[in-house]
Amino acid sequence: MKAIRVDAPGGPEVMRLVDVPDPKPGEGEALVRIEAAGVNFIDVYHRTGAYALPFPLVPGQEGAGTVAAVGGGVTEFAAGDRVAFAAGSGTYAELASVPAARLVQIPSAVSTKQAAAAMLQGMTAHYLATSTYPLKPGDTCLVHAAAGGVGQLLTQIAKLRGARVLGTVSSEDKAKLAREAGAETILYTKEDFAAAVRRMTGGAGVQVVYDGVGRDTFEKSLDSLAVRGTMVLFGQASGAVPPIDPQILNQKGSLYLTRPTLAHYTRTRGELLSRAGEVLGWIASGKLNVRVFRELPLSEAAEAHRLLESRRTTGKLLLIPGI
Ligand code: NDP
Repeated sequence: MKAIRVDAPGGPEVMRLVDVPDPKPGEGEALVRIEAAGVNFIDVYHRTGAYALPFPLVPGQEGAGTVAAVGGGVTEFAAGDRVAFAAGSGTYAELASVPAARLVQIPSAVSTKQAAAAMLQGMTAHYLATSTYPLKPGDTCLVHAAAGGVGQLLTQIAKLRGARVLGTVSSEDKAKLAREAGAETILYTKEDFAAAVRRMTGGAGVQVVYDGVGRDTFEKSLDSLAVRGTMVLFGQASGAVPPIDPQILNQKGSLYLTRPTLAHYTRTRGELLSRAGEVLGWIASGKLNVRVFRELPLSEAAEAHRLLESRRTTGKLLLIPGI
């Protein structure tokens, strides 16, 4: 089969399309013919070595497609099932072997590409808004990169829960998309977003900041919180946040700080099915719009990473094998 392989950490150019042997489904696994692989920021961290994985590696955690075969002990899935997943490995490929416990069936009203686009960022937005800090009517949240993949979904889910959303973006074009998703926007490349948040909340600050940008926003995110507010640092698109003195949480208002990850919010089969079921259900019923920014052939994985890293995407990037 064709797959993207990375032999050593580096820039986007280290991702090469190569021929490799087809994977075989092991015990408890299903072999999935990938129809769309989701591109995520974590794939960049894996490619650069920022999050350590052994090399050589085939990038990609997210995908959707059709079950081609199942390994021993798999009873819940059979060849021909349409499935999606966010916690596989090696999805920048025509085939991937995935633990059956990580798969979900795709509802008939949701396309395979929509499912590939929604699993990782959609379930992330879901756990942030419903579990890490469960938003309620009357709350105001700050969402960074509100026109991004997670950002647009998180904004919509926050609105579904009745919260007010302030969303940061780097351009007017992105502001338009974030507003369509339900945010009141702040151009954080032009103005001090913490000052804007104080102005827009009558000086009170927000109950929660969802920060996936990291190094460039972390400190001012703390400055944007109300007393006893919650700082949710869930990513580092601009770089890693340096170590902090916990005393700062006291000085800025007895704040809570958490650094969550999707794996811990989909630990059991029940939690995975309930989160994925709600996200895919909202898509099926039209309550949640997943914006696919661009579909690229698998061979253009390097271009996909360049687009994501240079802040030129607004929504999901998909890699499509076989085109
Ligand atoms: P996005 O589509 O949001 O792309 C990243 C966005 O971050 C950019 O478009 C840009 O928006 C903003 N940004 C600000 N500074 C930079 C910079 N220096 N370089 C690149 N981008 C920058 O990506 P995703 O939706 O895939 O992911 C968003 C974040 O969520 C990432 O940090 C990712 O790691 C994290 N994540 C965490 C998960 C978890 O469970 N913890 C799971 C999934 C994602 P703008 O131009 O408007 O500033």
